[in-house]
Amino acid sequence: MNHQERVPCAGLGLSHIDREVLLAGWVDALRDHGELLFIHLRDRSGVVQVVFSPEFADPQLCKAASSLRNEFCIALRGRVRKRDPGTENPHIETGFIEVAATELEILSRSEALPFPISEKAMVAGAATRGTDSASEEIRLQYRYLDLRRPTMQDRLIKRHRIIKVARDFLDERGFLEIETPMLTKSTPEGARDYLVPSRLHPGCFYALPQSPQLFKQLLMVSGFERYFQIVRCFRDEDLRPNRQPEFTQLDLEASFIDEAFWYDLIEELLVRMFAVGGVEMARPFPRMTYDEAMDTMGSDRPDTRFGLRFVEATDLFRDTSYGIFRQILQRGGSIKGINIKGQSEKLSKNVLQNEYAKEIVPGFGAKGMTWMRVVRGDLESNIVQFFNRDEQRAIRERFDAQDGDVIIMIADAANGTVVSALGQLRLHLAERLKLIPEGVFSPLWVTDFPLFTATETGIASSHHPFTSPDRTDFDPTNREELLSLRSRAYDVVVNGEELGGGSIRIHDPQVQGKIFSALGLTQTDVEEKFGFFLKALAYGAPPHGGLALGMDRVVSMILSSDSIREVMAFPKNRSAYCPLTQAPSAVSRDQLKELGLLESGGSAPLPGADHRQGLLETLSWVSRIAINENERTAIADALEEAARQADQVRQNAGEEAPLFSVSAPMNRMRARDEARRSPLAASGDLFKNAPAMKGNYFKVAGILE
Ligand code: ASP
Repeated sequence: MNHQERVPCAGLGLSHIDREVLLAGWVDALRDHGELLFIHLRDRSGVVQVVFSPEFADPQLCKAASSLRNEFCIALRGRVRKRDPGTENPHIETGFIEVAATELEILSRSEALPFPISEKAMVAGAATRGTDSASEEIRLQYRYLDLRRPTMQDRLIKRHRIIKVARDFLDERGFLEIETPMLTKSTPEGARDYLVPSRLHPGCFYALPQSPQLFKQLLMVSGFERYFQIVRCFRDEDLRPNRQPEFTQLDLEASFIDEAFWYDLIEELLVRMFAVGGVEMARPFPRMTYDEAMDTMGSDRPDTRFGLRFVEATDLFRDTSYGIFRQILQRGGSIKGINIKGQSEKLSKNVLQNEYAKEIVPGFGAKGMTWMRVVRGDLESNIVQFFNRDEQRAIRERFDAQDGDVIIMIADAANGTVVSALGQLRLHLAERLKLIPEGVFSPLWVTDFPLFTATETGIASSHHPFTSPDRTDFDPTNREELLSLRSRAYDVVVNGEELGGGSIRIHDPQVQGKIFSALGLTQTDVEEKFGFFLKALAYGAPPHGGLALGMDRVVSMILSSDSIREVMAFPKNRSAYCPLTQAPSAVSRDQLKELGLLESGGSAPLPGADHRQGLLETLSWVSRIAINENERTAIADALEEAARQADQVRQNAGEEAPLFSVSAPMNRMRARDEARRSPLAASGDLFKNAPAMKGNYFKVAGILE
């Protein structure tokens, strides 16, 4: 095939009528009318209809074409012609033409597919089968096929465009792209490190970077002034939705700048990146201090697409006779509330009392909540009689209460509990009452974070320990004072998601030393962990600062995808496992030995493992379940039977990779294969041991899948 002659499928249109073209790609869909065979040929650009007919192709060619199946990879030559009137398909770019094939080469064949890939119907208006039926696990296991789907291709193409826009923009602004090491020393970002054992230095480990933090600061000491990198970072964190063990940051650092530099740069950058997805974002982005965000929305990454701001109510109840409030206030507590405007129809007494007060709000960590509905100018609830007339009037005024409003208040001895519970309640209500407008992107800078947060044993950095405090004359031994310090940090938040954050850094080694000692690090700790870095700061470090954007989140938000996994080519699943490559996987003892990892745990990596003999002993030991003498024979038999069946299944399994989840039987069959009914089905013997049915499927034990 002469690749220079090849043209993209989606590039063809009415202007190419009668042109001879060479195309290559995959068979997206087929429609067989006996003599006449239509296919959709798909390449990266899109699809075009190709027709094989004895009218203009020799019988050999038509015969070869009849052996085509979905996802065969083919090249063909043909003449572009106008489709017959009435057969046009306005849903595809090339819907007014088709290619009459005159040559065909099958470049490679495809196995039957685990799920449909085609997303374009051949007949205008007809439904296509999406991948909805395929579980994410199957999609990840066959990711190379999942990525053939136009939706996935489009996402990765847009991701490329978004990153390209960022690269071009930063280049324009004088930033240099510089790589930093992957095998390195631990950089604290609040997660566990992924460690890599060193063969050449037995017993020693590299850490994969949680971020390039220290290196980018060193690049400022080196005088590069403006750095960026699209960089992979690794954090071994507990599993949470929308997290991946490895993810991509757009990492930035600059010298001789202040906060205003970053506000300007990042706003412009985000505006340009969002524009790739057709989203217009207005500048300047609003700013809010951490305290205001917590006090009014109960989150340091508040969603500002809707109101439901908190109203301070503590002072209204200073002299209240309502026992619960009085006790809480005596213990130094606080009371805040939300006015849910005009929603009393949707929030009945029953919903407020039995769902929110009893179930939902306690789930958010508060002991309870107080609710009131505004009816004909008065407050109504199960406890309103405990408040005197003045208090009721004060509540109405403070909350600007109108008929149809619902007021919810949370009181607690700990202000942190009040704002956190109310913050979660705010989001819950917004979702339930559909108060979040669609298609709106609401950016926000959150600033003035506390430098430290209190922990059970002492204090920890709220960001990382290289963040500049708002003043440097603090006493590192005074916990109270340390907790009152603010940082010169800033987070950029859109629609309640933190897309990035950074700070102005400490560039004075003395101040950096004070922070380490405030964190309780000994001289030896500091020397061992950050000695090289403190030393570098002592050689004329310029004032500097930076920021990092989580690119998977940015792209996922721009493209409105359900999860960051949808915008990553090869993500791990929710358990940090890769169903495609089956990583992480066990390694041989020889490898462990070579890396010096066996010595650390002795010759038996699991203590006691070498004393266990036989299936029964091993099972009992591994599962930590004691097996009684009188059960032994029966369990031993069952185990042997299970092992025998597993062996049989393994032998019968064939070459194909096992499927881990149900997929529709039609996906596993070729169009022309003949379906036959098993005689066992008629007698009911087939699946007679299957425990239950769900829809059209038998539920069978996972092991049979
Ligand atoms: N290293 C920080 C992070 O990964 C970002 C920064 O401070 O520039 O969150």
